[in-house]
Amino acid sequence: MGEFELIERYFAKVGPGRADVVLGVGDDAALLTVPAGHELAACTDTLVDGRHFPAGTRADDIGWRALAVNLSDLAAMGATPAWATLALTLPAVDEDWLEGFVAGFAALATQHQVALVGGDTTRGPLTITVQALGFVPAGTALRRGGARPGDLLYVTGWPGDAAAGLALIEGRLAGQGANRAALEGKFRRPEPRLGFGTRLRGVASACIDISDGLAADLGRLAAASGVGATVRAAELPLSRALFALAGEDRAREFALGGGDDYELLFTVPPAARAALAAVTASAGAPACHCIGEIAAGRGVRIQGERGELALPRGWDHFAT
Ligand code: ADP
Ligand code: MG
Repeated sequence: MGEFELIERYFAKVGPGRADVVLGVGDDAALLTVPAGHELAACTDTLVDGRHFPAGTRADDIGWRALAVNLSDLAAMGATPAWATLALTLPAVDEDWLEGFVAGFAALATQHQVALVGGDTTRGPLTITVQALGFVPAGTALRRGGARPGDLLYVTGWPGDAAAGLALIEGRLAGQGANRAALEGKFRRPEPRLGFGTRLRGVASACIDISDGLAADLGRLAAASGVGATVRAAELPLSRALFALAGEDRAREFALGGGDDYELLFTVPPAARAALAAVTASAGAPACHCIGEIAAGRGVRIQGERGELALPRGWDHFAT
């Protein structure tokens, strides 16, 4: 199969048709209409075989993940996704693999009304780069730098589950049955918090998505805001499955230091607590827990019942 045929067969019609796509796959560039009064939000993330997913990961899970990690970045900005591009490097044309990959990608794209509007296809070691594009009413995006002393710190969902799922897949954690399936599922199919992110506009003072571990990403939010942050270890939400398979101490390590959660970590000024309650009570909102607060100063502290806990290190590709 030639490159043109491959693109035509697999990538020409992925995701919904959208009226704001003037020109999609097929020309030298896509032409897209950003709604008036909005800013374009653009982000990109690369997945490398064996580095961002274990060797042997199903093609449909890779396709889902490649888009999910990008949509999570848009969620953390409070943006609404609209379009994506896909740069795909493949060792060979494997039709079964391509069909699976596109099915996983398209399932998430359709769920969030994202149209694939362009990309590039090359031969080489399996590497997937997706760019996600969306929009946000001008001036309202959620940034990392807006947290102030006294703000409350919240996290969605159940941090640590995905990292424990990966540990199960890689044999670093033991477990079977429904708990194992639940945790593995969290790793295999991350759910970007898109609807929730948009509803946090005007409520959250700062927001980041957790890709490299709660503590590490909180460190980034705090540094960008020029503040310090305290997490109360006892308030960390630990899912029943994580608790059952890892035990309390290790569950907390997964929650603080594991990555791949794609949950939102955000701060809320005390005056906006009622507004947050309305958001968390709205239909489809994920679980949301207050886990600490922002303080003057610098750095992240993990407050245990008997004093301060050591800080886990987040995922750093260039750490030696
Ligand atoms: P060019 O040589 O101008 O870069 P390409 O042959 O690389 O064009 O791509 C032809 C068309 O197919 C372009 O519109 C491009 O955006 C699209 N395309 C190529 N690869 C992909 C892909 N993996 N997913 C989506 N669109 C793709
Ligand atoms: Mg090209």
